[in-house]
Amino acid sequence: MKARIIKYAVVFVFILLVFVLIKVSLTRLEDEIDENQVSTKGEISAGLDKEIKKEIESTEETTTKNKDEETTKETTKETTKKQEIEEETTFPIEIDNENKEIDPNKPMIALTFDDGPNAPVTNRIVDALIANDAHATFFVLGLNIDEDETENIKALKRAYDAGCEIGNHTYGHVNLVNVTDDKQVINQVMAVKNRLQQITGQKDTIIRPPYGAADERVMSLVKDPIILWSVDSLDWKYKNPPQLLQYVKENAYDGAIILMHDIYSTTADGIIPAISWLKEQGYQLVTVSEMAEYRAGGYKEGVKYGEFLP
Ligand SMILES: [Zn+2]
Repeated sequence: MKARIIKYAVVFVFILLVFVLIKVSLTRLEDEIDENQVSTKGEISAGLDKEIKKEIESTEETTTKNKDEETTKETTKETTKKQEIEEETTFPIEIDNENKEIDPNKPMIALTFDDGPNAPVTNRIVDALIANDAHATFFVLGLNIDEDETENIKALKRAYDAGCEIGNHTYGHVNLVNVTDDKQVINQVMAVKNRLQQITGQKDTIIRPPYGAADERVMSLVKDPIILWSVDSLDWKYKNPPQLLQYVKENAYDGAIILMHDIYSTTADGIIPAISWLKEQGYQLVTVSEMAEYRAGGYKEGVKYGEFLP
């Protein structure tokens, strides 16, 4: 009898032990997961410092097509990060075809505006687009659509609701090729992607890297379609509306992607008459992804797009 009681007691203690062990390892696992989430968030906000904000303001005017200089070295190591981005990315970008009649056989042009939104200018351009039944693409900076930027956020939503496309121009206008920390590259991109999803609900986003700078490493980290341009208006340099109008008239062609900046009132002054002129010439003013869809059947990974010829 005694022996039996001892036997039961031993079995009971054993079961209890197993329970405690399972419980302990589960709590540890949970803690680990929490920690991971917190540190990712922390890194993102840390990466978006004011330092970056200051850097941008003066640098836009410098290099344009600043090509792949140094970094092809570190491409392979950080596969987990790549996976994070891959989860967010699908090809091709989905297009809302409602109310959009695009004739693939007629000439089309993609007007693109970088570095905004800047509500007073962006709104004027969007007004002109609406009046001409036209669309454009705005490559926005994350710092311009922070929580407190209510006017810019309104302008962005308005553009989106008018059928324009909103693209990513990084959070702080950094040259991604020069950012050696892969994590920082991803943070610069993901911060805007996430913010745009909050504001517009869009999941997929095209990106125009600042200065057009994207080398193999950047492209392996950033899986979104990379959009460059074929017509550089140099609006930031001349700030001369008649000159911008004239430049567009002389350089417009079927399949062109025209680069401008919706942060200068002179750009609005020049492009508003240009929008009417382009329509009169028979150009369909479409978003970049519309042109990609109708001209190339969408985007392919690992390609930089500067135009979509018929
Ligand atoms: Zn820019």
